[in-house]
Amino acid sequence: MDISYIINELGEDRQLYFNAVAPPIIQTSNFRVETVDELRDLFADEYSGYLYSRGLNPTVDILRKKLAALDGAEDCLVFNSGASAIFAAVLANVKSGDHIVSVEKPYTWAQRMFDVILPRFGVTTTYIDGTRIENFERAILPNTALIYLESPNSWDYKLQDLRAVAELARSENIVTVIDNSYCTPLYQRPIGYGIDIVMQTATKYIGGHSDTVGGVLCGTGAMMKKIFDSELLNAGIGIQPFNAWLLIRGLRTMPARMERLTVTTRKVAGYLKSHPQVESILFPLDESFPQYELARAQMKDACGLLSFYLRAGSRDQIVRFCEGLKHIMMAVSWGGHESLILPKCASLTEVEFDPGIKEHRMLRLYTGLEEPEYLIRDLQQAFEKFL
Ligand SMILES: *Cc1c(COP(=O)(O)O)cnc(C)c1O
Repeated sequence: MDISYIINELGEDRQLYFNAVAPPIIQTSNFRVETVDELRDLFADEYSGYLYSRGLNPTVDILRKKLAALDGAEDCLVFNSGASAIFAAVLANVKSGDHIVSVEKPYTWAQRMFDVILPRFGVTTTYIDGTRIENFERAILPNTALIYLESPNSWDYKLQDLRAVAELARSENIVTVIDNSYCTPLYQRPIGYGIDIVMQTATKYIGGHSDTVGGVLCGTGAMMKKIFDSELLNAGIGIQPFNAWLLIRGLRTMPARMERLTVTTRKVAGYLKSHPQVESILFPLDESFPQYELARAQMKDACGLLSFYLRAGSRDQIVRFCEGLKHIMMAVSWGGHESLILPKCASLTEVEFDPGIKEHRMLRLYTGLEEPEYLIRDLQQAFEKFL
C-alpha cells in the first residue's frame, strides 16, 4: 500500500462527515444503541463496535487503521502514552513465575516496570547485550515468556538482528516486543522480520510538534484484541479523541518531516565529527558505527537522534556548553520541530563525574526542523565560548 494513500485517505469516510477533508473529533464518552440485542452484543464483545470511549472511538479508529497499515500489521491500538503502550504489551503476555529477556538499558519506563513493578508479581527479567544472538540463546529459560527489544536504542543506538531474534523466539514459543520509536515504521518494519508486537511512542515523530503524548502497539488482530479486552479497557489507557486527532494531523506531514530531518541530521553529524572538541559521534548510519552493516541492512534510513562525546575535563565544562546554546533547548523527548540537547552528566554530581569514563561526556542531540546551518552556528558559538 502506498504511504501517501495510507496517510491521506485510508480509514477516512468523508461522505459521513460533510466531505470535510479533516476528520471530526468525535468528542463523546458514550454511544447510544437502538435495541437491547445491540447492547448485549457490545457487552459480550466491546471490540466489535462503539459503546464507550474508554474502548473504541471513531476518531481513534481512523488513526488505528493508518498506523496498522504503516507497520504492515493486521491491527493496532493507540494509548495515552508510549509508556502505557509498553506496559500493556508486556503485562498482557506474562504471568506470575514467568521470565523476561530484555536488551540492556531499554527505555527508562520499560526498565522501571521490569525492575520495580513486575518483581512484585513474581516476574523476573534478565538484561543482555542484544548485539549478539548467542546472548539471547544463553539467557532463555524454560519459563521465558517474552523477549523485549529496542532497536536502535535511543541513547547508544545498539541494534538487534530482528530476523534472528524473531526466529529464535518463535522456535521457543516466546512473544517478542520491540520499541521501534527511533525508526518508526517509515524506516523499519519489524513485523516483516517476524516480530510479534511493535511499539512506538506517538509523542515523538507522529505528533511531531511537541504538543501531545501517545503510544502505539501493532500486531495480529488476536493479540490486539487480547490487549484491548484486558489491559486497555481495565486501566483506561486508550488515547482520547482530541489527541488522536492531533496525531492524524501529525501523520500528514510525518514523511516530509522525517525526510528533512534525515538531511539535517547528517549535516550536523558531519560538522560534529570534524570538530576538534568532539572525540567521536554515535549515529547508526555513520560508517564509524560498530553495527553499521546491520543498520544498513535492517533499517531504511536514520534521522533525528545522534550522540557525541565531548573532550571535556570537567562536568562544569559540559554544563557551560549546554547552558550556552542559544537556540537548541535542553529538554527530554524528541521528534518535534525543535532541536534538543540532553547531557548524560545531568544524572551525575560533580563528585561522581569522571572524565575518564567516556559515557559521562556523552550528549544526545536531537536535530529538529530548523535550518541545519542555524543549528551548526549555535553549536559553534557554544564550543567557542565554553569549551
Ligand atoms: C519517549 C519514548 C518512549 C515513551 O513514550 P511516551 O510517549 O513518552 O510515554 C518509549 N521509548 C522511547 C525510545 C522513547 O524515546
